[in-house]
Amino acid sequence: MDFSRLVEFYERLESTTKRLEMREILVELFREADPEEAGLISYMTLGTLHPPYIGIELGMAEKLALRAVRMVTDVDEDRLDREVKAKGDIGTAVETLLAEKKSGQTTLLGGRLTVQNVYAILERITKVTGEGAVDVKVKLLAGILAHASPKEARYILRLVTGKMRLGVADQSILDALSVLYGVEKSVIERAYNITSDIGLVVKVAKSAGIEGLSSIRMAVGRAVKPMLAERLSDSREILEKLGGRGLAEYKYDGERMQIHKDGERILIFSRRQENITSQYPDVQGSCRERIICKSCILECEAVAVDRETGQMLPFQELMHRRRKYDVEKAAKHYPVGLFFFDALMIDGEELIDRSLSYRRKKLSEVLEQNEHFTLTRALEVTDPDTLENFLLHAIEDGCEGLIVKDLSEKSIYRAGARGWLWIKYKRSYVSKLVDTLDLTVIGAFYGTGKRAGRYGTLLMAAYDQATDTFKSICKVGTGFKDEDLERITEMLKPYVVPKRPPRVDSEMEPDVWIQPSFVLEIIGDEITLSPIHTAARGLLQRNAGLAIRFPRFTGKYRLDKSPEDSTTVEEVVEMYRSQLKRVEEGRGEAT
Ligand code: AMP
Repeated sequence: MDFSRLVEFYERLESTTKRLEMREILVELFREADPEEAGLISYMTLGTLHPPYIGIELGMAEKLALRAVRMVTDVDEDRLDREVKAKGDIGTAVETLLAEKKSGQTTLLGGRLTVQNVYAILERITKVTGEGAVDVKVKLLAGILAHASPKEARYILRLVTGKMRLGVADQSILDALSVLYGVEKSVIERAYNITSDIGLVVKVAKSAGIEGLSSIRMAVGRAVKPMLAERLSDSREILEKLGGRGLAEYKYDGERMQIHKDGERILIFSRRQENITSQYPDVQGSCRERIICKSCILECEAVAVDRETGQMLPFQELMHRRRKYDVEKAAKHYPVGLFFFDALMIDGEELIDRSLSYRRKKLSEVLEQNEHFTLTRALEVTDPDTLENFLLHAIEDGCEGLIVKDLSEKSIYRAGARGWLWIKYKRSYVSKLVDTLDLTVIGAFYGTGKRAGRYGTLLMAAYDQATDTFKSICKVGTGFKDEDLERITEMLKPYVVPKRPPRVDSEMEPDVWIQPSFVLEIIGDEITLSPIHTAARGLLQRNAGLAIRFPRFTGKYRLDKSPEDSTTVEEVVEMYRSQLKRVEEGRGEAT
């Protein structure tokens, strides 16, 4: 496919915010592309070149990209900078200037770019390393820009600087495939959830049809999408949901890790399928030593522990380990304990369709345990009192609460799915909202006075799984220290977009819209019905949604969570219901 053809689709995608229309455009695009191209296109459309676990990202500094632009056209540097500032987007800025320069002539050097050669060059750019790498990258980019039309340049520049932002998510691509092949999305989702590789799924579907997708298998080295938990706050309800019996496990407050072992090679993937291996040399070492099998995929929670006392420390401490440099030193200063809770594959045996008891037995067989390299603490429970008591123990031991898991034969590992096979159970106080919510930033308001020049308030959203959208739930302006506001303003800068992103549902208009990218932990006093916010709109009362009253930032940046991992609208509804119940119970006692 010519790159210019792909660009036509991109322009159409950009011109609409209607999800259905976008889906139709994607269907048309994937129908037209051959299998190989379709795979590459699916990565590029998401603004990447590979599945996340490969760990190579596009993100050339704008300054360098502009250097490449100046190599192919003699546009004045100041003018270029001014245009980028004015447009707020390197893509359209360069497009405008190139269009002026090239008037009449479509490209400087002529020739046609294809999807494959644009992809190949971009890939080379990401891979160049060593001395002189920067110059080589700039030259490669200049080379391709010389053959690009102004419109093509727009998207090439956005891609290479890591700012594609078409409003298309992986789920939008899966939706389009299900329409293209006339099958339920779940048929396609399985292949995606066990590989996290959208390009692979699209390519196989295009070349071997839907039946071909069943040939896609889980593999060591490919991150599996994690299974997620629902939440309830009542022990009785939890047991009812689980048919009267469950395995209550400590819910450790750390970072989820998916450990892949292949002989001596250890790979560590985050909850978002990023490759975080290099940050954890200590974890690699202990896994090499203490996992006794040839190959496997296991899951654990890594928790910061006190160097002296060995006691578990709060989640924040682990953030010291998110770094590129001085990793060895950080590993010594901030050691972690690993608490294993699942096995997805061991020595070639796929375990995800087996029951939890079977998986846990297999898991225990391959771990050589010690105090800080061990199975999660767990207790089989059948009555609410025992469950409540175990929750108190978990909290006393420094955990957040419990995850109570289904123990029946149907308790498979549902990759990429949030469901009732696992239920979160955290501490709650009477009628007050104590549970925190992990919310996504969708907009920002400029600060005034001391906060001028920075964002002072953020518009936050919960994730609505049913529609794959982010629904506004509160405006938060407290709990931020000065450094937080500084940091957040910087963090959000690359994600500012000129209009409401298509996956955002909000009636409140912030000063700037933010592409859903960051998750912050928020606590509030209670959840209330709201005429303004769109979370759960119409679910509990006509024309009303839910909002958080007196929201505050807790200080926790949930960098480990992707926006789709935010607290869901369903969870908020559940929290609202249990809050109502507690208030009613409180009243009952008072009378
Ligand atoms: P949340 O992040 O609040 O949605 O809670 C789910 C997370 O709890 C998982 O993604 C894990 O990172 C973490 N977790 C801690 N302990 C366990 C456990 N015993 N079983 C499963 N997940 C756990």
